[in-house]
Amino acid sequence: MTNELKRAIDEAYRVVVFTGAGISTESGIPDFRSPGGLWTKMSPIDFSDFIRSEELRREAWRRKFEIDKTIVAAEPNKGHMAIAKLVDSGKASHVITQNIDNLHQHSGVPAERIIELHGNGTYAKCLDCGERHELHEVKAIYDASPAAPVCKSCKGIVKSATISFGQAMPEEEMRRAEEATLGCDLFLAIGSSLQVYPAAGFPILAKRNGATLVILNREPTPLDEIADLVVHDEIGPTLAPIAMLN
Ligand code: NAD
Ligand code: ZN
Repeated sequence: MTNELKRAIDEAYRVVVFTGAGISTESGIPDFRSPGGLWTKMSPIDFSDFIRSEELRREAWRRKFEIDKTIVAAEPNKGHMAIAKLVDSGKASHVITQNIDNLHQHSGVPAERIIELHGNGTYAKCLDCGERHELHEVKAIYDASPAAPVCKSCKGIVKSATISFGQAMPEEEMRRAEEATLGCDLFLAIGSSLQVYPAAGFPILAKRNGATLVILNREPTPLDEIADLVVHDEIGPTLAPIAMLN
């Protein structure tokens, strides 16, 4: 399997790497759907609930500050480093990620090569005026008052700069992801259950456009049947030898 994956990468002209929460579990950040993943513990707060209820906004911020203790301490793992090498060598043009943990940036992939479909969890934004708010400022407001944090400029609702279920996708990132996908001849989907749309539409688009589709995930995914190669294995140990990190 590893040999076949290596051959696919060697033969490709332009690779697009697409990642999900699975690439970061080896860095200690739980994914959503694995046993022990976040969804086995609590259901997500979707966008309309966040807007509707101050109590749920408080709860969303409580969860955010809790998970951030893990995310802030996390370091990129061998999977991230292997991908960074693919980008650095010029083989991979872009990393399209559903992750919000900033670990592709930490691994050395230049920001302009990263397309964050679901935003970034290292800062917050006002939903009304768009102003950026640093998390330590939001935390201070959260700690000082029983209310949910609001924007210091316009009193709008402040939310982590991530995309919740039910929230509109970021237009520019969607456009860039489509362009990158249509420009590749090998699309490498890594560590995603491929169940969240529209993100999971990109591997399908790549395949329809004639690219080779490879899926690397420890569990089966609904798109395995359309893939040219499926590798059911651990990400870091699979990618490290291919990128000659060992
Ligand atoms: P998911 O939890 O639905 O799927 C992760 C997949 O990765 C699972 O199928 C699992 O079997 C596989 N996996 C986990 N660890 C692996 C490993 N070491 N090797 C091989 N396979 C492994 O995640 P998703 O598809 O990204 O979708 C869920 C949503 O959750 C995304 O929108 C994402 O924004 C968000 N999320 C992000 C983070 C993060 O930023 N690190 C963490 C949790 C959730
Ligand atoms: Zn504002």
